[in-house]
Amino acid sequence: MATTYGSFEAVIGLEVHAQLLTRTKAFCGCATSFGDPPNTHTCPVCLGLPGALPVLNREAVRMAVSAALALGCAVQESSVFARKNYFYPDLPKGFQISQFDRPLALRGQLEIETEAGKTRAGITRVHMEEDAGKNVHGIGGLSVVDLNRAGTPLIEIVGEPDLRSGAEAAEYLKRLREILMFIGVNDGNLEQGSFRCDANVSVRKVGETKLGTRTELKNINSFRFVAEAIDLEIRRQIALIEQGGRVRQQTRGYNAEKKETYLLRDKENESGYRYFPEPDLPPLVVDEAFLADVRGALPEPPVDKRRRFTESLGLTPYAASVLTGHPQIAAFFEEAARLHGDAVKVANFVQGEVLRDTRTTGLSATFPVAPGQVAALLRLVDEGAISGKQAKEVYTEMAGTDRAPGDIVRDKGMAVMSDAAAIEAVAASVIAANEKQAAAYRAGKAALFGYFVGQIMKKTGGSANPAVVNDVLKRLLDGAPATGG
Ligand code: ADP
Ligand code: MG
Ligand code: ZN
Repeated sequence: MATTYGSFEAVIGLEVHAQLLTRTKAFCGCATSFGDPPNTHTCPVCLGLPGALPVLNREAVRMAVSAALALGCAVQESSVFARKNYFYPDLPKGFQISQFDRPLALRGQLEIETEAGKTRAGITRVHMEEDAGKNVHGIGGLSVVDLNRAGTPLIEIVGEPDLRSGAEAAEYLKRLREILMFIGVNDGNLEQGSFRCDANVSVRKVGETKLGTRTELKNINSFRFVAEAIDLEIRRQIALIEQGGRVRQQTRGYNAEKKETYLLRDKENESGYRYFPEPDLPPLVVDEAFLADVRGALPEPPVDKRRRFTESLGLTPYAASVLTGHPQIAAFFEEAARLHGDAVKVANFVQGEVLRDTRTTGLSATFPVAPGQVAALLRLVDEGAISGKQAKEVYTEMAGTDRAPGDIVRDKGMAVMSDAAAIEAVAASVIAANEKQAAAYRAGKAALFGYFVGQIMKKTGGSANPAVVNDVLKRLLDGAPATGG
C-alpha cells in the first residue's frame, strides 16, 4: 500500500450495506421484491403499527452468517438487536432495527490486489439490520413514501481503515461484491442500491500513526465514482490542511458532473441515535451445528477459483478473471471444461464466442448455448471432422437452439473432406481442365501451386482438408506425369 500524496497519506475505511436475497423481509412475511407498485408489500410489522411484533427470518440469518464466514469473521454465539432511533419519513417505526455493541460477527479480512501486490484489508464487523423505505420526490408536486423496501434484510460490513487510495477502495468493493455474489446472498446491483457503499476518508502526514478527522462520502453508486470521489476528497482535505485549515467531520456527497464532493451535513454523532437493545427480539443465538451447516455449504471463494484456473487448469490470469466475472459464467465454463476435458480450449472458445452473447442480470445469466453443446462442438474439431473456422459457423447456427453440433454439421454438409481418394479425383479433374497452368508450373512457375489449391477448394466448397490437398497436389503435379497429359 504505497500510494502517497506528497507528504500526506490517505486513510479510507468503507461501510457497505448489502441487501440479502431472501424471499421475505427480515422481521415479517412480506415479499422483498423490487419494482412492484408502491406499498403493495407491507404489513403492520414493516409499517411500524403499534403492537406489531417482529419475528426474525431464519433465511436472513443463514445468509448473514454465510457472508460473515466467507469474509473470515468470527461469528458470535450470541448477538443482540438494537434500536437505532431517528426520524425520517421512510422509517415509519421511528427506529431501525440494527445491531450495535454486540454484532453478529467480528474480525474478518478480504484479499485484495493493489499496485504493491496481493494484500489483505481488515473487516471490523458484520452485522444484521433492516432497510428503510424509499422517499420518492416530485410525484404530482409531492414527495411520497414507498415502504416496499422497508424491512428488507441487510448486512452491514464495516471495514478497517486499511485502504490508502480510491483505487484500493474500488478494488476492495469489487472483491467484496464478488464474494457476496458467489455465495448467492446479494445480487451486487450498485445502481438499484442493493449493494451500497459509504466511504470514510481522512488524511495524515506520512509516518503519523494517529487517524486524522474523517469525512464520510455517502451512497456513491459505481466503482468508478467511488474511486474518483475518494481521490477528490483526499485532495480537498490535503489542500485544506496546506492552507492552514482543518478538516471537519462531515457527511458529504459526490457530484460526478462537477467532479467535486459537497457538504451534505455536519456529522450527527452516535449518541444522537440513543441505541438500546430491541425489547421485542431475543438475542440471536448461532449454535455450532448451524455454523457447521452453513460453513459446509460455502462454495469455493472466487480468489481460490482464479488460482485454481491458472495453476491447475493452465489458464492465463486474464482468462481466469474473465471466466470468474460472474458466478454463472464460472459455472458454465467449469461444466463445459469438465465435459470436454481440455480447459484451455474451452476457455478460449467461451471467451471468444459464448460470452459475446451472454447476458447477466443480478445473479442470473442467460447463455446462447449449453455447456454440453460447446463440449460436443469442440470434440468435432478435435476429431478433425470440422475445422476451427467451421466450428464458429456451427456455433452461430447452434446459438439460441438446443441442436446438437453434429446434426448441424451433417445437415449443412459441412464435414471436412479428408478422404485422399475423393480429393485426388477432384485434383485430377482440375489439372486436366488447366493444362497450360500445369505445364507452366512444371516448367518452374512454383507460384501456380496456390492456384491449384484454390481451384480445389472452390470445387469442394472449402471443405477439403488443406493438408491432404497439399499432399495430393504435390504427388500429381511434381511426381507422376500429368494424368490428362
Ligand atoms: P460510524 O458508524 O459513526 O460511521 P465507525 O466507527 O463505525 O463510525 O466507523 C465506520 C468506518 O469508518 C469504518 O469503516 C472505519 O474503518 C472508518 N474510519 C473510522 N475512522 C476513520 C478515519 N479517521 N479515517 C478513515 N476512516 C475511518
Ligand atoms: Mg458511518
Ligand atoms: Zn411486512
